[in-house]
Amino acid sequence: MLRIKEFVKAESLEQAYELNQKRTNRILGGMLWMRMTNAQIQKAIDLSDLGLDKIEETEDEFLIGCMVTLRQLELHEGLNEMSEGLVRNCVEDIVGVQFRNLATVGGSLFGRFGFSDVLTAFLAMDSYVELYKGGIVPLSEFAAMKRDNDILVRVIVKKTKGHYVYQSHRNTKTDFPVLAVAASKMGDEIKVSVGARPARAVLFAAKDLTEDSVCQVAQKVVTGTNLRASKEFRSHLAKVLIGRAFVQLRGKEEA
Ligand SMILES: Cc1cc2nc3c(=O)[nH]c(=O)nc-3n(C[C@H](O)[C@H](O)[C@H](O)COP(=O)(O)OP(=O)(O)OC[C@H]3O[C@@H](n4cnc5c(N)ncnc54)[C@H](O)[C@@H]3O)c2cc1C
Repeated sequence: MLRIKEFVKAESLEQAYELNQKRTNRILGGMLWMRMTNAQIQKAIDLSDLGLDKIEETEDEFLIGCMVTLRQLELHEGLNEMSEGLVRNCVEDIVGVQFRNLATVGGSLFGRFGFSDVLTAFLAMDSYVELYKGGIVPLSEFAAMKRDNDILVRVIVKKTKGHYVYQSHRNTKTDFPVLAVAASKMGDEIKVSVGARPARAVLFAAKDLTEDSVCQVAQKVVTGTNLRASKEFRSHLAKVLIGRAFVQLRGKEEA
């Protein structure tokens, strides 16, 4: 059972960061994952008064505060228009609307969960995270970093022109994904992100959208076994989902 001794509403990011340096203190997102753990938290640090629950749009990027919920991502017109629905598609099967009204983008990315649809999808876009002390870091770099006591302040998505698609396979509609694939083509650059392997999502580059490239990328995907699926099934799925993603991208290129 999760136990929290004290609740602190942070008045500034500096105060939140200072408090978070103590191993027994913890930043709160939507608390949906945290409440499933047995953590003993001395001070729970709430960021909800810091204005980080908004998606701001500038001429060339989206600035997504860490307290923005998955539901806000799902409903944001500009973000979904730019990403051709990739953002909506990656969250729409996560549990249900009430859940997505609480789960935050900060908690989803900071956790770097091995089942994450959100991390998988954002990796295929031109995405960065703004860390309070660490500054702005490409999401692909952050995804591979060891967890520390920094604060994820914002996610930045550049409005890079391109095509974006999302594919996932679930045993039942709202369960964790068995495998998730996001792909994009921005100019000549083709990115393929594979998550729920079941391990942190990883990013690959493909040279074109042919069947050969599907096989080349799929071969590089390291998969594993858990109660949802075997390593062999996931490796098979990787080829199927990357293949479907490339067919969709080819369709968008030709349209
Ligand atoms: C039953 C269930 C089913 C789920 N299914 C899926 C699924 O199918 N697909 C999917 O992608 N995800 C799924 N998730 C994960 C979920 O969508 C969220 O990603 C998860 O709950 C974390 O978000 P949160 O806002 O609840 O964070 P919390 O649980 O509050 O926090 C998670 C961790 O991140 C830290 N943290 C939070 N915000 C910050 C910040 N700004 N800076 C630094 N550290 C921070 C916290 O200290 C904590 O350690 C599921 C979760 C549950 C509980």
